[in-house]
Amino acid sequence: MYEAAVYTGKWDQVMSPLGESGAQLPAWASALQQGMAGHHRGDIVWHGSLAVYTTFKVGGRAEAIVFPKGRDELSRLVRSLHGLDVPWVILGRGSNVVIADAGLKGVVIVFGRDFAEIELVDDAADSVVVRVEAGCSLAKLVSWAVERGYAGLEFAAGIPGSVGGAIVMNAGAWQREMKDVLVRVSIMDGQGAISTREVESMQFAYRTWGEMKGTIALEGFFRLKKDSPAMLKEMCKEYRQRRKMRQPQNMASGGSFFKNPLGGKTAGQLIDQAGLKGCLVGGAMVSTVHANFIVNTGRATARDIIDLMGIVQKVVYEKYGITLEPEVKILGLE
Ligand SMILES: Cc1cc2nc3c(=O)[nH]c(=O)nc-3n(C[C@H](O)[C@H](O)[C@H](O)COP(=O)(O)OP(=O)(O)OC[C@H]3O[C@@H](n4cnc5c(N)ncnc54)[C@H](O)[C@@H]3O)c2cc1C
Repeated sequence: MYEAAVYTGKWDQVMSPLGESGAQLPAWASALQQGMAGHHRGDIVWHGSLAVYTTFKVGGRAEAIVFPKGRDELSRLVRSLHGLDVPWVILGRGSNVVIADAGLKGVVIVFGRDFAEIELVDDAADSVVVRVEAGCSLAKLVSWAVERGYAGLEFAAGIPGSVGGAIVMNAGAWQREMKDVLVRVSIMDGQGAISTREVESMQFAYRTWGEMKGTIALEGFFRLKKDSPAMLKEMCKEYRQRRKMRQPQNMASGGSFFKNPLGGKTAGQLIDQAGLKGCLVGGAMVSTVHANFIVNTGRATARDIIDLMGIVQKVVYEKYGITLEPEVKILGLE
């Protein structure tokens, strides 16, 4: 099972009130269970801590964390939650989120190893198309492609997270981003209906896929060129090395905290030149290695991170008249 939680189990085992902490199942729990009758193959964690599912290692509990095993189960779940008016959110590997200390109401849906297939769907003379489910880790996809000599994803070497999260965030590095290799995306709407969208018809932009909130990325189709595995391996090694030199190592974070403003200086340069490296609020600190990383020095709370974010935004605005917009998604404060 995934963690020591108040209650972890299969859907049909969750009817008793929760023990130890005195927490109760949410009022909608049994209605949800009825809605899911016959469609519950995955696990559910009631009242589980979310901090362990994020790279920042902060965040309170979710009323429920669900690990769907497939798209039918997911579709049924989303429809049931819609009918019950229970809020939900998708979490990939939690590498681009800050979750509020008070936790999240409703259901957190986590795509994990049961949603992680990689399949070759087209094999032409000089390129291939690969279908990858949202829960696959980006690292696994990059290694899979490189080993087979499929080029295009090397830029993503060293970016943590799931393929779904990378599509939704249009993750990128070294002047390349996910949309450059994506052909189409299967999506699920907020009522469980599935459709396929060609990338040209989507509004991909800097760190966004442009879809409406409540839309789920189920899988991506990537076109990759055939090339030498040894050469691709070398490129990935080089990219990982550059990250090692420029980014804080072995410290919990969400990667680059702010988006780079259009034109001019990067967010990191502005924060650095404003003298904010090392600025500390509780356990949250502006990294001394890379000024656009806020790191958890060990005991940070989400509040510390959000307060530090506010200070950085205020100081940069006062000095340069530029409002830094977070790239990291802040969940649970809306
Ligand atoms: C050390 C470090 C380095 C990083 N370097 C980079 C970098 O170089 N470039 C870069 O772009 N990013 C970088 N990141 C940020 C992060 O890794 C990427 O944005 C990653 O793609 C997020 O994937 P995830 O699965 O962790 O998403 P999560 O953090 O779990 O989710 C991010 C957002 O996407 C939503 N979401 C996730 N999956 C889905 C889905 N299947 N359908 C619908 N919504 C979904 C979530 O609700 C949330 O709003 C870095 C992070 C860290 C910690």
